[in-house]
Amino acid sequence: MQFIDLAAQQERIRGKIVEKIEAVLAHGQYILGPEVREIEERLAAFVGVKHALSCASGTDALLMALMAYGVGPKDAVFTTPFTFVATAEVISLLGATPVFVDIEPDTFTIDADGLEKAIDALDAQDPSRHSLPKGFEGLRARGIIAVDLFGQCADYRRIREIAQRRGLFLVEDAAQSFGATYSGKRSCSLADIAATSFFPAKPLGCYGDGGMVFTDDDGLAHALESIRVHGKGSDKYDNVRIGINGRCDTLQAAILLAKFEIFPEEIELRQAAASRYGELLGDVDGITCPVVRPGCTSVWAQYSPLCANRAKVLDALREAGIPTAIYYPKPLHVQAAYAYLGYRPDDFPVSMSVASRIFSLPMHPYLSRRDQERIADVIRNAAR
Ligand SMILES: *Cc1c(COP(=O)(O)O)cnc(C)c1O
Repeated sequence: MQFIDLAAQQERIRGKIVEKIEAVLAHGQYILGPEVREIEERLAAFVGVKHALSCASGTDALLMALMAYGVGPKDAVFTTPFTFVATAEVISLLGATPVFVDIEPDTFTIDADGLEKAIDALDAQDPSRHSLPKGFEGLRARGIIAVDLFGQCADYRRIREIAQRRGLFLVEDAAQSFGATYSGKRSCSLADIAATSFFPAKPLGCYGDGGMVFTDDDGLAHALESIRVHGKGSDKYDNVRIGINGRCDTLQAAILLAKFEIFPEEIELRQAAASRYGELLGDVDGITCPVVRPGCTSVWAQYSPLCANRAKVLDALREAGIPTAIYYPKPLHVQAAYAYLGYRPDDFPVSMSVASRIFSLPMHPYLSRRDQERIADVIRNAAR
């Protein structure tokens, strides 16, 4: 059994993938070739935003978003410690400071009340209102990166309102949620700029690294386009700002075009697999199944229940030959890389508690009912 069965997907569309790759070999435009433009247009239309710019990875997508806002030293950017390290890493790379905010206990996305408190604390320069990182003195609140975790979106209705009222920019880290919806709108259309990833294990993945940024704002799109190619001005050898080499290569765009054809159907298959897990595990003592915010849909990048008896359940699954993973065993505020922020473990109790109980089960569009029944049987026997 596979944790994510990319081979089953490839078997379905292998002919199409080979055809698309051969077209690139024939025209030879390996950088920013016609397939790059085509996938950008397709995904912009799918998401319902004006501009989509492909780039080299989800991490570069986030980095480019912050660079478009000119984020730098003395800037504070709010995000959660319960995410993949890339979310906070890009803040640090630009010399800015991540200010962590705890998560909601059921969706694992940023807690809007906590966010408001953290902004208040920073504005008032008063860490008794909400824990603040070392060196908070003189930091200026600039923006928020909301993370759409495990396939579902953060609570953008509330977060957008806070960002607007406080004059902060809002970036959607949609690396795990491409294809999800929030109140009828697609993920990647929910903030000022959204960043997604096409890492092979993400809901829409390529066969290497890739990413995309989305925005409705013409000015931001213009800046992002320049940042993607070394801060280019009128041409590549006119450099008007500091940028990066953040291009997506044409072969990856070609592979995405082939995979995107079956993506809407794959979203439905993922959702069907998630509901089956819900039916099979919903009444198991000691297991808390993941929930989706009312009025929203998840693309189920991960299916991650909570269990106080996690070690026992994981041992039983390993013995039965069922692959599992833990996202994330250690929140960012207790990682060595972020020791410099001086946070204490109990500054973010929900993140710590979830990290100690969460685990992820095999999840992909081709997961069979039989496999899911077997997984559920093992968990039922071990969780008690
Ligand atoms: C995967 C991921 C990223 C980074 O994407 P890459 O393409 O691997 O650089 C950023 N944020 C989150 C939440 C992710 O899951």
